[in-house]
Amino acid sequence: MAEQHFKTLEELQLAMDEFVQSRGWYAPDSEKPQEPRNLAASISLEANEVLECFQWSERGNINCVAAELADVILYAAQLANVLGIKLEQAISEKLALNDQRFPAAGEELWESRLAS
Ligand SMILES: [Mg+2]
Repeated sequence: MAEQHFKTLEELQLAMDEFVQSRGWYAPDSEKPQEPRNLAASISLEANEVLECFQWSERGNINCVAAELADVILYAAQLANVLGIKLEQAISEKLALNDQRFPAAGEELWESRLAS
């Protein structure tokens, strides 16, 4: 597969779907069954590989971190695919929620003054 540049998360999800499809991993007898639990476990395993990049170095190895972050995101895209989740929407909703939960510095004080 040639190197691809994605402009949207939807494009990333589609590319991951095509990658899995082209390798026959959606087949019932696949050696890499695309079950949600398997993919969730893979995300966790790859997240630990990110930590491994820092095992003997406070600063870590940037190439190692980049590669393992990519693995985490690709497995997350595939888990979203099999569950019918649109990552762009899910992330937008989560960012909005986080914006409410964790007000920017000064914003909380301003809002409390408006309320009083
Ligand atoms: Mg990895």
